[in-house]
Amino acid sequence: MKTPLFGAFQPPHEDERILGSMPRISLKEMQHFRESEPVDYCIVGVGSAGGVLCQRLAKAGFKVVGLEAGPFWDTERDWVSDEKGSHKLYWTDLRITGGEDPLALGENNSGKGVGGGSVHWAAFAPRFHPSDFRVYTDDGVGSDWPISYEDVKPYYELLEREMPVAGPAHFPWGDPHGYPYGPHPVGEVGNVLIKGCTKLGIPVVAGGPIAILSGSRGDRPHCIYRGYCIQGCKVGAKASTLITHVPEALRYGVEIRDRSMAFRISTGRKTRVNGVLYYDDEGREHFQRAKAVIVSGYAIETPRLLLNSACPGHEAGLANASDSVGRYLMAQAGNVLLGRFSELIRMYKTPPAHSMTEHFYETDPDRGFARGFAIQTVAPLPIAFAKQMMKAKGAWGWGMRRVLMDYNHWATLGVLGEILPWPENRVQLAEEKDQFGIPVASVTFTLHDNDKKLIEFGKKTVMEVMRAAGAEEVVQESRYAHLVGAARMGSDPATSVVDRFGRTHDVSNLFICDGSTLPTQGSANPGLTIQALAARTADYLISQGEKIFSSEERDMTPPPVRRKLAVAGTFVHGIPRLWN
Ligand SMILES: Cc1cc2nc3c(=O)[nH]c(=O)nc-3n(C[C@H](O)[C@H](O)[C@H](O)COP(=O)(O)OP(=O)(O)OC[C@H]3O[C@@H](n4cnc5c(N)ncnc54)[C@H](O)[C@@H]3O)c2cc1C
Ligand code: SF4
Repeated sequence: MKTPLFGAFQPPHEDERILGSMPRISLKEMQHFRESEPVDYCIVGVGSAGGVLCQRLAKAGFKVVGLEAGPFWDTERDWVSDEKGSHKLYWTDLRITGGEDPLALGENNSGKGVGGGSVHWAAFAPRFHPSDFRVYTDDGVGSDWPISYEDVKPYYELLEREMPVAGPAHFPWGDPHGYPYGPHPVGEVGNVLIKGCTKLGIPVVAGGPIAILSGSRGDRPHCIYRGYCIQGCKVGAKASTLITHVPEALRYGVEIRDRSMAFRISTGRKTRVNGVLYYDDEGREHFQRAKAVIVSGYAIETPRLLLNSACPGHEAGLANASDSVGRYLMAQAGNVLLGRFSELIRMYKTPPAHSMTEHFYETDPDRGFARGFAIQTVAPLPIAFAKQMMKAKGAWGWGMRRVLMDYNHWATLGVLGEILPWPENRVQLAEEKDQFGIPVASVTFTLHDNDKKLIEFGKKTVMEVMRAAGAEEVVQESRYAHLVGAARMGSDPATSVVDRFGRTHDVSNLFICDGSTLPTQGSANPGLTIQALAARTADYLISQGEKIFSSEERDMTPPPVRRKLAVAGTFVHGIPRLWN
């Protein structure tokens, strides 16, 4: 055919996209602050929490510099719809692992680059349950939070609209609620979960909750169901702070310095910090002065930076008078069960995250252990599947080739189990150093009796679900997901690092805001909670205004919820569902 059916194909104009929708980010037009002049806030790490903080604080009129160790991704140029080509999204720098049940560190933990872990997350976005905030009171294990579910609920509702989250009209667990966007169509892995659960009488939901568009929104198109979600989603349907919050943060004047690795927080007087020392990409040392500092570097890099910032008056590390920095690190049990079905499954179709049950979330005394687990779809692409089969089935050589040729017949479901916070599970400094000469993190992790019982029960249950769905063969791989804790919040300065707004007990203008402040982790994926807490911390800082920069006083009055600071367009697009 010589003439195209619909006329000449037009490339996208400057300000619009056909596919690959992200708003153009002009780094040239970005605000630039002088290092010698103190900004209001220097934020270390522009990931899940850091991205939300940058957007809120800049929109409220503060001068903000974000330091990000990784690059500023150009999603058109840097991302590929290819499993192998996306490995650069992860923090794969040296980390040391140990303990009786050492965690695999690297691509299974955190991201590096603007957007952080939200760039490669699978985007499952459930809320924590009210019971998560009073685990010690209700179950006698773990720890209570210094805040309740009700304190976070308005921020869950906001972030579910800002991302936005698609999901069922009625999500029956925890505090039952609905979602702003309708659920996604279910793929075959989701069908396996639904079939198995339904046969066993276990309630299950389909099509979310996930922070992936099930309809277009502004200039972001809806999901096209090709399964590259944890490869960044070049399409722009999956939420990451890089595309949801950072563009607006830049418009309101935040400066984000990428490839900038913070290595020490600088102290002025004993109880105050005055800026952050960092290395640029070429190893040159810089010092950004700031009236207050917020660390949002993830549950490993945040304690690492605090420990590396030890100085006279803070010999054990900054904000570590309680000896809690690095302790109470948690990972969720993330055992993956792989089942073979005679019919075709095709795991690569649809987002890996799309169906789940939280039926086993809370403590059931009959099970013989405290707390519980969720069951979720996992659906790895072929390289991840090959790695899982190597561990689960010992597949290798010709056997691996046969297994991979059979990929389309396999479905994977995951346990997401609550491992409790233990003081010996911790981040410390290793003797080894990174490319800048900074001591790297050493992570020690050991399962306790309750954790082991929970994992065994979770595995057995998912095995039953797989069998009930008709699996001919089921194998499993033990793994962990979602590291949080290691700088936990609490009311008692003797046993925690930050207060209920993220302010360190020891240093009045130093805050921590990321997954490391979580006292317990439930069996919900933590990303939504981390971003909701960041919006809450921002509201607190805005309420306190200049007091943060000069006063030692701690005003513990909860801030009003500033809905007007939500990302522009939050309340005008999408299919409105329940909004309490
Ligand atoms: C494969 C995968 C899938 C996941 N899927 C889900 C999911 O479906 N749902 C969910 O809720 N969660 C999921 N997660 C977890 C989620 O991504 C994290 O819990 C979340 O991103 C953590 O947020 P954070 O703000 O604590 O840290 P991050 O988002 O990791 O941000 C920290 C940022 O700080 C930067 N940084 C660190 N140290 C320094 C320093 N010294 N100087 C400058 N910058 C620094 C890092 O480069 C990074 O960008 C997944 C994680 C992985 C690995
Ligand atoms: S399946 Fe995942 S990668 Fe593909 S468009 Fe949907 S969200 Fe993006």
